[in-house]
Amino acid sequence: MDRIFSGIQPTGTPHLGNYLGAIQNWARLQEQSSSVLYSIMDMHSLTMPKEPAVLRRNILDTTAAILACGIDPKKCFLFRQSLVPEHAELAWILGCLTNVPRLLRLPQWKMKCTSQNNEGTVGLLTYPVLQAADILLYNGQLSEYGTILACGNISFDRLKVYRLWSTHVPVGEDQVVHLELAQDIAQHFNKKYGEFFPVPKAILSTTKKIKSLRDPAVKMSKSDPQKLATVSVADSPDEIVLKFRKAVTDFTSEVTYDPVSRPGVSNLVSIHAAITGLSIKEVLHQSAGLDTARYKMVVAESVIQKFAPIRNEIKKLQEDKSHLIKVLEDGAEKAKELAAPIYQEIRRLVGFQ
Ligand code: ATP
Ligand code: MG
Repeated sequence: MDRIFSGIQPTGTPHLGNYLGAIQNWARLQEQSSSVLYSIMDMHSLTMPKEPAVLRRNILDTTAAILACGIDPKKCFLFRQSLVPEHAELAWILGCLTNVPRLLRLPQWKMKCTSQNNEGTVGLLTYPVLQAADILLYNGQLSEYGTILACGNISFDRLKVYRLWSTHVPVGEDQVVHLELAQDIAQHFNKKYGEFFPVPKAILSTTKKIKSLRDPAVKMSKSDPQKLATVSVADSPDEIVLKFRKAVTDFTSEVTYDPVSRPGVSNLVSIHAAITGLSIKEVLHQSAGLDTARYKMVVAESVIQKFAPIRNEIKKLQEDKSHLIKVLEDGAEKAKELAAPIYQEIRRLVGFQ
């Protein structure tokens, strides 16, 4: 059976890109496997410094948004990363197997380091290793059958049997290079300490990277300081209309799809297709004759319709903080039950025991 693992940083309310590139997929996948883990990655969010009160609020707001988008804690383990300390402990072990130049080459390091306008922190450089630990911690599992007896040359040895879970990781396109790093680290570990980790596999969302509405050269991001760049799942209809009205396009008024030479309008077409479930061709057919200004309002309307029930549900969920906290704690208890025996075995393999 396949296990599913994925996560989101509590860096603000999820946006259109998170919804189309990740959360919508998560809701589908929770129906397909009985072993599904979704994590609120609070440790990762420290890589971009936040006030403690803001982080606390973001954790609950992100949880409310995820639940409102249809993630059901009865069908998956929804948990807060820092409540399972084995993530950090395994990250240390994996960090000791990872070359610094490999991390320096990752595009997110270069991008975020420049946007932070400083030399970058150790956390910002090594968070992809923590991501590898997040995945690999649930990626090997001791057999439910316990031990078997095997005949060695001299005596009977007890061999442990591993049931190999191949963890599938739903990710947006921006995270593919990080998943490749996790695959490399898993193979490196196996070479050094013996076959233990099955190599995790990506489940790529059919939605391509959704771009910023202010700059179609970069992806839509929660941590983008430009308020008009990002459409949140909790935005009001007025906010959604304003953001699409201000979306950067070009001087051609026709609606066409050409991501290279017309990235702005093509991003709108991608959003429209993903949110309605139509193909790009169908969307273009429907929009024939509209100029980009009117087309922006058509796209805005489709997003408003999709997000209206989510927005109402978020408001309801935010009123009961203790429920949100309990969901995350219960999920962490269950995640720990899965992680603890795997991490115990890793400790033994590396020689800590
Ligand atoms: P931050 O700016 O804080 O990194 P983010 O918007 O990149 O926030 P994450 O929490 O890092 O969001 O990512 C959560 C999930 O959403 C990941 O699976 C990621 O691949 C996906 N995702 C993020 N941004 C986009 C986007 N613009 N288009 C499609 N998928 C996205
Ligand atoms: Mg991100």
